[in-house]
Amino acid sequence: MNRIPITRPALGPAETENVVRVVQSGWITQGPEVAAFEKDFAAAVGAPHAVALSNCTVAIEVALRCLGVGPGDEVVTASHSFIATANAVVTVGARPVFADIEADTYGLDPRAVAAAITPRTKAILAVHQIGIPCDLAGIAAVAGNLPIVEDAACAIGSEIEWQGRFERIGRPHGVVACFSLHPRKIVTTGDGGMITTADPALAARVRLLRQHAMSVPDTVRHHSDKVVFESYTEPAFNYRMTDLQAAVGRPQLARLDAIVAERRRLADRYREALADNPVLAPPTERSNARSNWQSYPTTLRPGARLGQVEVMQRLMDAGIACKRGVANSHQEPAYVDRPELWRGGPLPVSERMRDTTVLLPLFHGMTAEEQDQVVAACQSLAPAR
Ligand SMILES: *Cc1c(COP(=O)(O)O)cnc(C)c1O
Repeated sequence: MNRIPITRPALGPAETENVVRVVQSGWITQGPEVAAFEKDFAAAVGAPHAVALSNCTVAIEVALRCLGVGPGDEVVTASHSFIATANAVVTVGARPVFADIEADTYGLDPRAVAAAITPRTKAILAVHQIGIPCDLAGIAAVAGNLPIVEDAACAIGSEIEWQGRFERIGRPHGVVACFSLHPRKIVTTGDGGMITTADPALAARVRLLRQHAMSVPDTVRHHSDKVVFESYTEPAFNYRMTDLQAAVGRPQLARLDAIVAERRRLADRYREALADNPVLAPPTERSNARSNWQSYPTTLRPGARLGQVEVMQRLMDAGIACKRGVANSHQEPAYVDRPELWRGGPLPVSERMRDTTVLLPLFHGMTAEEQDQVVAACQSLAPAR
């Protein structure tokens, strides 16, 4: 059966042509195309600086390192996230402290963050889950002087109201925002990550660490007409992005406004069609936040006669791919089996949202017929009268 997918990358002929151009240029890793992609990305989200990396997991890791987070430190974050969020904290030797979320944003609850902060807390890692902005202003109000790192993996094109006007996620509103370019996100380079920041020193340090702390970048050496030797100033990493990846990303970025507008149109259509659905409730958006609808989350209505697994099976039987809510790191074996790695809780909202959310298909190029088929399957979940 031809199943309607949960997502589909928005790739077109411009991407292919751009990759061919870059291949023929002869410079295929961290060169001019990556530099151009960084400029485009910074402009797209309104950030002073953008630095490309291999993926978002290492972007979060490097951001934490640049803030001096290490062994003995704690980072308050969400368990209700892709496991990369917690893993990045563990990778730098620090301990994730899981705080609970708010049901409507799937993001950290400022009150839970306030309760989780201790003298060991070194940073807050706030997730804009599935593209829905978290209550960043509320979190900032309880964070005091603690730096906020935004896990904006899913949130390119999402906006929050900040000091009276809407701004894209990534300006950034914390100290640094980390984006993913995995195909499950709405702009993809296959794999890839991006850091945005307003702090030039932090941007410079990320550039250094992503390439083994090499003192003279090869782009500079290549264009020099004098002999130059580089040196390596500290042990660091290979977290480079290739120019081939950047070549795939740039045309999508150029279409970002249209991609986000189309996703919002599809989400509006779902909201109307599911308003009276007896089993699944559409999400409600806060007046101070606009999602890019990287995922479209519905929740089981209280008293619905079907459980999450039954709903998902019925949708699958109707040829519709769907996913359950975002998992919780504290319920995965990686963390259940290693209680010394983390602390936190109780996390009742995180646990409830995993088990009551069903993500529906929503992707660029989704036809009205495809969406109608999803809606019809959702309507037929109602028990026959
Ligand atoms: C996808 C995702 C990541 C990891 O991104 P990669 O680019 O795959 O490393 C991190 N956090 C969240 C919330 C994500 O959805």
